[in-house]
Amino acid sequence: MNRRQLVKTLSLSGMTFSFFKTGWASNLKSTSKPIVLSTWYNQREANIDAWSILSKNGKALDAVEKGVMNAENDITNCCVGLGGNPDRTGIVTLDACIMNEKFEIGAVGALERIKHPISVARAVMEKSPHVMLVGAGAQEFALAQGFTLEDGKLSDHATKAFEEWKKRNEFDHKNVEKKKVEFITKPDREQEKSKSMKVDEFNHDTIGMLALDSFGNLSGACTTSGMGFKMRGRLGDSPIIGAGLYVDNEVGAATATGHGEEVIRICGSHLVVEFMRQGLSPELACKKAVERILKSTPRKLEDLQIGFIALNKHGEFGSYALQKGFDFAVKSEELDNKKFDSKFLM
Ligand code: ASP
Repeated sequence: MNRRQLVKTLSLSGMTFSFFKTGWASNLKSTSKPIVLSTWYNQREANIDAWSILSKNGKALDAVEKGVMNAENDITNCCVGLGGNPDRTGIVTLDACIMNEKFEIGAVGALERIKHPISVARAVMEKSPHVMLVGAGAQEFALAQGFTLEDGKLSDHATKAFEEWKKRNEFDHKNVEKKKVEFITKPDREQEKSKSMKVDEFNHDTIGMLALDSFGNLSGACTTSGMGFKMRGRLGDSPIIGAGLYVDNEVGAATATGHGEEVIRICGSHLVVEFMRQGLSPELACKKAVERILKSTPRKLEDLQIGFIALNKHGEFGSYALQKGFDFAVKSEELDNKKFDSKFLM
């Protein structure tokens, strides 16, 4: 009997789910609830802040917001919050989204000079009639909600990284500095696409966090300064519900880091959750999403890195990445912010 026939037989006998839960997923990692996990081990402190809420029977939503705020506060972080790398006009623009156990969602894109985009995303969810605000409108909304306008100065490391980036790129920086406008023409874009960009050139360090609280409810948050030195106006996957983050309280939750264009192309986090709904373990669900990227991307694979993490309703978790080097941290009663190195395809 091949795998498809086996699945069919098991579905007919109503056994699919329990089989996958126990047998198929030999790669299963699980722990008791509450549990929190987040992308990139070097940002593991964020889990501690989330745990301070979860361990006191707090809500997963509050935990993920507080958790990722830790990364947003870290001015030395290359890729989250106002200390992050700017776009190629030298301006830091922040993207974030949040989702709870009731399919409630909120997101902000290209938000400037606000320290905690994740909290603005939550305010969009709870206090606006919409689910996503971007650019100047998002900033106006944040100010109206009492958030403070920061000075917009680049952090020391971002200033340095930007100077370095300008040296290595052939674009007309004088022009861009003067006009502060988008300047990439189509030929430039094509040229850039075919240029070999090393995987770590953009320092993928977006934080995506998933939590299951002691009531058995799931929530997730994702926040980033996006791809370093991106074109002005570019949005990645991180503020897009279904791409950078998805939560279905009956099934599980997933979040992504890496080249956002490729995650958007396959509705990555939603896809991972749907694979878990079909009975796959979190790790296999992430692996299948990475395989989908392999099929769909027009880019050279060696130029890409994508990592997914996922958590199901039972506290089972897993991850998968396109390339070596992706890791994540898990905190629960049994796991003391433990590091997991993700498996990878290439
Ligand atoms: N996913 C983020 C984006 O595309 C970047 C990252 O995770 O490094 O904006």
